[in-house]
Amino acid sequence: MQSQEQIIHAKWLITCEEDNKILENHALVLKNGKIHAVLPSKNASIQYPSATTSHYSQHAIVPGFINSHTHIGMNFFRGLADDLTLMDWLNNHIWPAEKQWVQQDFVHDASLFAMAEMLRSGTTCFNDMYFFLDATAQAALTAGIRAHIGITVIDFPTAWASTTQEYLEKGLAFHEAYKKYDNITATFAPHAIYTVSEKTLSTIKELADQHQLKINMHIQESRDEIEQSLAQTKKRPIRRLHDIGFLSPQVIAIHMTQIDDEDLTILQHTQPHIVHCPESNMKLASGACPVMQLQAAGLNIALGTDSVASNNNLDMIGEMRSAALLAKLQSGNPKAVDAEQALKMATLQGAKALGIEQMFGSLTVGKAADFIAIDLAQIETQPLYHPISQIVYAASRHQITDVWVAGKQLLKNRQLTTLDETELLNKAHFWREKIKN
Ligand SMILES: [Zn+2]
Repeated sequence: MQSQEQIIHAKWLITCEEDNKILENHALVLKNGKIHAVLPSKNASIQYPSATTSHYSQHAIVPGFINSHTHIGMNFFRGLADDLTLMDWLNNHIWPAEKQWVQQDFVHDASLFAMAEMLRSGTTCFNDMYFFLDATAQAALTAGIRAHIGITVIDFPTAWASTTQEYLEKGLAFHEAYKKYDNITATFAPHAIYTVSEKTLSTIKELADQHQLKINMHIQESRDEIEQSLAQTKKRPIRRLHDIGFLSPQVIAIHMTQIDDEDLTILQHTQPHIVHCPESNMKLASGACPVMQLQAAGLNIALGTDSVASNNNLDMIGEMRSAALLAKLQSGNPKAVDAEQALKMATLQGAKALGIEQMFGSLTVGKAADFIAIDLAQIETQPLYHPISQIVYAASRHQITDVWVAGKQLLKNRQLTTLDETELLNKAHFWREKIKN
């Protein structure tokens, strides 16, 4: 962390605050890992004469993206099984592959590999659900990225834990061991209502209250999930969760592609945060989260990629574009999820979902200096009438040149500063050779 001020001059600063502002020829002044000031470039050098200075004269600077739903330990399963329904994909491909391969080293290597992809795509914070939590946390400490790591609970044995009790004990031990680190945050992550009993969910709710942790859960992801729940209990998952007092703003409800009127009334009343994963939902043909309806009910909606086994990337620019396009197709309304809203879902609204909006998600004085520079002077994003339109509808992640977390530059002119790309690629080849046989 620098104690001396650092000035970052930009062509555009896009604040992503509630009243989003696009500030032209402005600068961020950084100090001690935070945004110390936001002011016109011409004043910055006068006010901070001893500061170091960098110029991003053809770039938009925006807050670092928050990927609100990932399973990064699965990064070496990218492209392993495509073009299948969710249940076929899980039962016949993903769960068997996980049973065979997922252990400490695998998750550590896959996590580091995913972090390299995320940093190269402008993501500075992610919200994960997987196994071998300490392997992912250690990777995050190496990479310097901010990690929200889910204490996964699933009612069947995996290499990580054998019983519900063991999942919870290991998870809480993880929380205790890592709470001293600024960039590691534990959450609870019961997998889904078809893999975790209501009794376990009630226990998790109690523990989450006691430890003040968020709860992530896949909820109403596909029609199959609803049908199975109705067949077993005559109730839809949201009704069941509400009946056990599970739903509240503490809950991060992932997917929500299937919503009826009763669900909407419950959601409006209980206000969980929603994570929309448009590409994973489209690829698995799970459905489309009714973003406009949920927004109208006052719910906060963040954006996530889900794993690369169902996406198949961790590209938040692509995810914003998909969210904007899918909302229009789904609602028949071209105004649905405009470019600015899509950008907010990837930044401030993600911070709100994770409960960290006081320190993250916008370019605001006092918040953490987590931000990215996107070069908009390339052929692909010219001519330029509106920088947010170019970012959401025309730019690619390869135009993200620089990424900072806590004022530290983790991507510098497309080069990772904390990770070795050759080493990461060698690991990916190593695991691919094992898995393909
Ligand atoms: Zn998921």
